[in-house]
Amino acid sequence: MNQQGIMKQHEPMRRHTSWRVGGIADRFYQPADIADLQNFLRNLPEQEPLFWVGLGSNLLVRDGGIRGTVICTSGVLNNINWLDDGKVYVEVGMASPQVARQTAKQGLTGAEFLCGIPGTFGGALAMNAGAMGGEIWNIVESVIMIDRTGNLITRNAAEFEIGYRHVKRPDDEWFVAANLKLKPGDKEQSLCQIKQHLARRSTTQPTKQPNAGSVFRNPDNDYAARLIEMCGLKNTCIGGACVSEKHANFIINTGTATAKDIELLIERVATDVKQTTGIELVREVQIVGESDGSGRLKKSD
Ligand SMILES: Cc1cc2nc3c(=O)[nH]c(=O)nc-3n(C[C@H](O)[C@H](O)[C@H](O)COP(=O)(O)OP(=O)(O)OC[C@H]3O[C@@H](n4cnc5c(N)ncnc54)[C@H](O)[C@@H]3O)c2cc1C
Repeated sequence: MNQQGIMKQHEPMRRHTSWRVGGIADRFYQPADIADLQNFLRNLPEQEPLFWVGLGSNLLVRDGGIRGTVICTSGVLNNINWLDDGKVYVEVGMASPQVARQTAKQGLTGAEFLCGIPGTFGGALAMNAGAMGGEIWNIVESVIMIDRTGNLITRNAAEFEIGYRHVKRPDDEWFVAANLKLKPGDKEQSLCQIKQHLARRSTTQPTKQPNAGSVFRNPDNDYAARLIEMCGLKNTCIGGACVSEKHANFIINTGTATAKDIELLIERVATDVKQTTGIELVREVQIVGESDGSGRLKKSD
């Protein structure tokens, strides 16, 4: 196989998650470009388990790691092409804040809200990421998917079931690029909006300690952070994982947390909130992989 990307064996996933925890992936492949990814998938054994990661900013990988192959798009698959009429082609490995900045500099408006979402564009598509009242799928016209055998399939946004931080995509298909539809805007105004938004974030979020953003989705007409704070859970810790003092819906790694500490703390918060308020919080972060080195696979997303 003429492989142009980078293949690593036994790669620690803590290097690829914003919580800085997670066990070893058996194989970890960073393709050179879309054609290389197609070639790689065509030559992959049919039964090989596959998992995709961007910047790991919404991901808890358990301490036992991931069996099979992890495909990492971050830092690669990062072309952006300017088409006519505000249309933009973006590949999934580009960081979302870059998409915000580059489209703003191009005098296009509509993607500014991506500026503070510290993941890849592909992760944003998979999660229907949103902020400042915007959501990514509102600006997507179509996406290019790749299947297990390396075929590319273009699908219109209307083909997907989209919800709050939720997207249902066909089994065994992943995003490689999207065509966005943006409006003509004012470059300076968009850049100013980005600056203000980032300043607001740094005062409300624990930006200096490893975390994965909001752990739980906000329930209808309420905020998960408000409920967690109301239950007196701020600063509650298990091992090296603590509920943030600054934002109750964030769990931080104080330096020594294991994935197990974080998962136990997530369960503890959900249980306490349910007992005190009757509200069942739904997790936003994805939990994947094996719970320990024993080879026992726990149920994951
Ligand atoms: C400080 C902080 C602030 C945050 N603020 C926000 C916010 O305001 N709004 C918000 O929505 N989120 C926020 N997040 C969460 C996170 O940044 C987003 O969900 C982001 O879009 C995830 O992108 P990623 O590349 O890190 O995805 P990852 O964490 O790597 O992956 C997330 C999921 O997407 C899947 N995936 C990744 N790439 C692909 C692909 N190409 N095709 C198919 N599936 C794929 C993965 O398998 C996984 O299931 C925040 C996180 C942090 C740490």
